[in-house]
Amino acid sequence: MAIIEVENLTKRYPLPDNKSESFFAVNGISFKIEEGEIYGILGPNGAGKTTTLEMLEGLNDIDDGTAFINGVDVKADPYKIKEIIGVQLQANQYFDNLSLVELLTLFGALYSREVNPEFLLGKVNLLDKAKAKPENLSGGQQQRFSIACALVNNPKVLFLDEPTTGLDPQAKRNLWDLVIELNETSMTIVLTTHNMEEAETLCERIAIMDHGKIVAEDTPQNLILKHAAEPPKAPLHGNIEDVFLALTGHALRD
Ligand code: ADP
Repeated sequence: MAIIEVENLTKRYPLPDNKSESFFAVNGISFKIEEGEIYGILGPNGAGKTTTLEMLEGLNDIDDGTAFINGVDVKADPYKIKEIIGVQLQANQYFDNLSLVELLTLFGALYSREVNPEFLLGKVNLLDKAKAKPENLSGGQQQRFSIACALVNNPKVLFLDEPTTGLDPQAKRNLWDLVIELNETSMTIVLTTHNMEEAETLCERIAIMDHGKIVAEDTPQNLILKHAAEPPKAPLHGNIEDVFLALTGHALRD
């Protein structure tokens, strides 16, 4: 069953150099995500990934189109959506002077939920940092803590916006393991990334986004079979980087 159904989702912003004109940051995209899937939105900076996520999360107005999560219309009922989703943002600002345990207890209270902070910290492998403050954590630990915060309401769907940007290779691996573990509890996970390897490693299906549009959507393997320049043969040599290049005519990174 599709837990997320998006139809013709659209967001316009004023053009930076001519505010009376607008451009499509997200240009009428449609997709469905099955319950329990890890779904990736892959694209370069400015493709419209964060804006898409923000609209699904009820954090940004939808200009046109519809989005339903677990049958709830995001546009009509953004507060109901917040009960069923967990959101890990790119940068988190926390209240000064509170420890990880205190912050998780506070976030739980905001959802009127009694949380077990130690259980959540154990999940993200930060139990030994229970009394630390976020500012004293490494980058990878901060990312894992922000996921613990996103889990306080036991969400059905977890949104991760570029969860491993800026992390060293080991911290990246640890975070991938965490995403896989969470997904094993049947949590649906939607993540954005501009990291090909991340998309290939984690995602059951990938939407490739460029200039506000989804230019292709499939399993990593099928995308490679269909679009990568090299003819398919065993073992498969093409990769998602080749797919992106073939579809958009430009590389993901400059
Ligand atoms: P991505 O997450 O793929 O990097 P974004 O969704 O952040 O892309 O941005 C898509 C486009 O919309 C970019 O051109 C960006 O500059 C523009 N944009 C994003 N947020 C705003 C905003 N609040 N006002 C105006 N333009 C915006």
